Amino acid sequence: MNYAMPLPDPPCLHISGSPELFPVNRIFCVGRNYADHAREMGHDPNREPPFFFTKFADAVFTGDDYPYPVATNDVHPECEMIVALSSGGTNIPHNQALDCVFGYGVGFDITRRDMQQEAKDLARPWALSKGPDFAAPCSILHPVSEVGHIEKGKLQFTVNGEIRQEGNIDQMIWSTAEMIAFLSKMITLKPGDLIMTGTPAGVSAVVKGDHLVGHVDGLSDLQLTIT
Ligand code: MN
Repeated sequence: MNYAMPLPDPPCLHISGSPELFPVNRIFCVGRNYADHAREMGHDPNREPPFFFTKFADAVFTGDDYPYPVATNDVHPECEMIVALSSGGTNIPHNQALDCVFGYGVGFDITRRDMQQEAKDLARPWALSKGPDFAAPCSILHPVSEVGHIEKGKLQFTVNGEIRQEGNIDQMIWSTAEMIAFLSKMITLKPGDLIMTGTPAGVSAVVKGDHLVGHVDGLSDLQLTIT
């Protein structure tokens, strides 16, 4: 096959303990998956069906120096656990959903909050407010074979050493298995898909020069400096 232009390199994440790379296919993000964050954004945290938005696969970012996004003055990094899939399918039963998981990591759901608020006010899509260049900084992935399934443990986000967000994976309204089962009823999940699993309360703005650390117990920290 000849292509009209060179194919881009696939976006990839590093894997703990392996020279192989994890090729990223798509990025699904769940909204309002922690009750305290739903409340701080003005919503009822009752267990309504989960809702999802997406980011482009090439939004993954693995560097140390993170360029402050353009077209915004209010960047909120939402600290989240990332689930990486090694298989997919449709109508995946809840009790088989975790079999699709390759591993776990830590990510920031980078949000241009000012742009998102305008989109909410005008009932417009979130695609660009949630999708600047490098909208999904990600840590190295830890395979299930190394760390098992991450179903509880502290999640913490610090900026310049000050705690901004703190929660526990067991506070997720929708568990990893439930999100996979639910998503697979809406779309065919595929190997390489990532799910960003939502964020606890405490989302706030960062500025150039800030040093960000995202932590989930059992996984490698995600660290970067805004430039
Ligand atoms: Mn989020």
